[in-house]
Amino acid sequence: MIDRRVTIAKIQQGIVIDHIPAGKANLIAQVLGLNAMARETGDIIAIGVNFDSPSMQKKDIIKVENLLFTRDMLNVVSLIAPNATIARINNGEVIEKHKVEIPASVGDIVTCPDRFCITNHEEVPGKFIVVERDPVTLRCHYCETEFFGPLIRYKEKT
Ligand SMILES: [Zn+2]
Repeated sequence: MIDRRVTIAKIQQGIVIDHIPAGKANLIAQVLGLNAMARETGDIIAIGVNFDSPSMQKKDIIKVENLLFTRDMLNVVSLIAPNATIARINNGEVIEKHKVEIPASVGDIVTCPDRFCITNHEEVPGKFIVVERDPVTLRCHYCETEFFGPLIRYKEKT
C-alpha cells in the first residue's frame, strides 16, 4: 500500500474530531454551523475526508481552531459519529482526548419527523430520549414517535 499519510492544518488551539465515519464530516460541519463560525471568527476550520484508518479503513477528520464545545455540539457529534474521538489542543499539544458518548437524551438539535408534533407547530424546543444506541434511535419526548437512520434530521445552521 502506498503511504498516504496526510496531515491537515496543524492547529495550536482548538479541537480535533477524529474517527468520523467517512462521508459524515460535512454533515457534522453543517449541523454545528462551522462555516458560519469561520466567517464570523476568521479561525481555521479544516475538514479532511477519506483518510486511511487502520481501524475503520476510511475516516473523516475535522479540526477547528479556538473552538470550545457546548453540550449540544458534543451530542451532535456523538449521534452522527458514535465512535469519534475529541481531542483538545492547547499550544499545539493534545491536552485531553476522549471518545464521545451518546447521552441518554438530547435537546433541540433534531427535528421530530411527526409533522403533527407540537415541536413542529409551536415554539417548543425539541427533546428526545435515546432509546437505542446502535443504530441510534430517538423517541420524541412530546409525541413519543420513535425514529432512526435517515429520519433523524438535524437542525442545520448555514
Ligand atoms: Zn414529536
